[in-house]
Amino acid sequence: MSGTVQNTLDYGHAIAVAESTWWVGHYLPGDHFQCHVYLIEAGDQSVLIDPGSKLTIGKTFEKIEEIIPFERIKYFVAHHQDPDITGAFQQIDERVTRKDAVILSHWRTNELLKHLALDLPLKCVEDMDWKLELPGRQLQFIFTPYLHFPGAFTTYDKSTGVLFSSDLYGGYTTEWSLFATSVDYFESMRLFHEHYMPSKEILAYSINKFQKLPLTMIAPQHGSIISGDLIKPITEKLKNLDCGLFLNAKRTSNLPELSDFNRLLRTSLEILTLKRDFKEIKEALALNIQKLLPLKSMSFYVKEPDGQISTLAEEENSSEPGVRDILLNTSMIGLTKIAWQEQYGPHFFLLDREVLIIPLFSAETGKTISLSFLELDHEIEMNESLADVIDQIILPLSTAVEREIVLRKVEMEKKKFYEQAIRDRLTGLYTRLYMEEAVTRLMKIHDRNKSSSFAVIMFDLDHFKRINDLYGHAAGDKVLSEAAEVIIECTRGEDINVRYGGEEFASFIVSSNHQTVVAIAERVRTKIEKMRISFGDHLLKITISGGVAFRKQKESLESVLQRADTALYQAKERGRNFIQIDPLEEREQNERKG
Ligand code: GH3
Ligand code: MG
Ligand code: MG
Repeated sequence: MSGTVQNTLDYGHAIAVAESTWWVGHYLPGDHFQCHVYLIEAGDQSVLIDPGSKLTIGKTFEKIEEIIPFERIKYFVAHHQDPDITGAFQQIDERVTRKDAVILSHWRTNELLKHLALDLPLKCVEDMDWKLELPGRQLQFIFTPYLHFPGAFTTYDKSTGVLFSSDLYGGYTTEWSLFATSVDYFESMRLFHEHYMPSKEILAYSINKFQKLPLTMIAPQHGSIISGDLIKPITEKLKNLDCGLFLNAKRTSNLPELSDFNRLLRTSLEILTLKRDFKEIKEALALNIQKLLPLKSMSFYVKEPDGQISTLAEEENSSEPGVRDILLNTSMIGLTKIAWQEQYGPHFFLLDREVLIIPLFSAETGKTISLSFLELDHEIEMNESLADVIDQIILPLSTAVEREIVLRKVEMEKKKFYEQAIRDRLTGLYTRLYMEEAVTRLMKIHDRNKSSSFAVIMFDLDHFKRINDLYGHAAGDKVLSEAAEVIIECTRGEDINVRYGGEEFASFIVSSNHQTVVAIAERVRTKIEKMRISFGDHLLKITISGGVAFRKQKESLESVLQRADTALYQAKERGRNFIQIDPLEEREQNERKG
């Protein structure tokens, strides 16, 4: 049915919706829950379904009379006890004259309706075996309880295939039409059910029953009538609808807004449970929040053990405005929940209405471990439902942040242990363990590119044993560390200095220039020669010898070290305090020159 046809429907009169089936409700302007009454015409056993309230019953009587005399109605079905269904029973009671008229309902409804003290008798559908035989048709009552009312049921007319579905399939509408025209009607249903139904399991229970029936039409008590091809796709959507999350939204009655917040909450919780990497969590959450709030940036601040404030999962050098630092340096971190609430409000702190500061609490200590800053593009009006959403995200988000903090600590400790493993304690030079790792990298680069060659200088202190023997091990240690200091001074950041053995050092010099390398080695030698190390009353002197080898492409580390070591041996042979270039290398050089 097209939009225009609907507009030509005259809601001032009864409208036929199926064979001998009439809509006899009354349109209330501005009512989001338009309430429908249906009349099943069955001679003097006609049925009125969900009669309505005092607001509408007058018009309903008029519409009934357009079709049949009111006295033909024998059965008044009340699918549940709500006032928009049963509010009219007083007037009906006064109008009914026939003795066999009866109200049909579930026992739970009847237990409540008896308080209306009507003359009309109340009959339980359970006692009728859930069905009603009428001339030429049979009605089937289907038990469809939900939390709102555990005695709720619906009515299925076997002869027409119409399901009078009561609240189920109901819609919350701003622009109402009696018939749904497309699957889009589901959006009205979403608002209605998400808010109203406690869970999708409850819905599934009813829908499974309906799906066994050959339905031609679903006529709900609110919203629009669904017919034909629309039934299936709308049912599929309804089956998968997440409900019940609004049980937490206590205050607002703005259903579209609630629905948006509901989705924000649901996807946020999903992100927090499914994702492990905090950076991913942060990005996904930000995208999600952006759908609802004018979010510019989101950051998480934590306090390091040394009291410094740092950010979690942030790109380096993203410097933040001073106001945050000022705030952060106040003691926002480390507060108990009660202390936070006393100072900053129940959920969060809204700074200038443009920065939302959400506290995250440690499950272990109960104190704020982190602050989440949501920077907004412009001011927002905070309302209770958004506050509720934030309130509910705080716990899982705190867990994610706490996990991230632990992971970071583990990472930092790993780094520390690694540092310890790769640095020699006495001299601060790299260990042989690190040498393998770093030099392998240098070799790979050199193998690809001839110009990135490097050299090894193998140093060894001369007669070092004497220092130990004469002044003790501590003196020897001091000499070692001072000598290492000289080597560091004479080389550059990209060079790799290794404590190779007790008083042996290997320097990997990144340079293809022979003169440069030799100059470095010579500088080390002369500096150490001139160095005087005070130890107690003594001024210690030492010299060093060195052997230089230039790595050839594809040469193994072992081989180039071996050549440097041979050169070192020769330096010692030549009287020590001497730098010797690998003789093989020297010969090649001279041949090239000569
Ligand atoms: P050369 O000129 O032939 O190299 O003679 P040298 O005495 O330096 O060589 P040798 O290898 O005979 O002696 C090295 C000494 O270094 C032996 C060892 O006790 C000492 N040594 C090794 N590691 C350390 C250390 O960490 N601290 C101290 N104090 N001495 C160490
Ligand atoms: Mg030595
Ligand atoms: Mg030695």
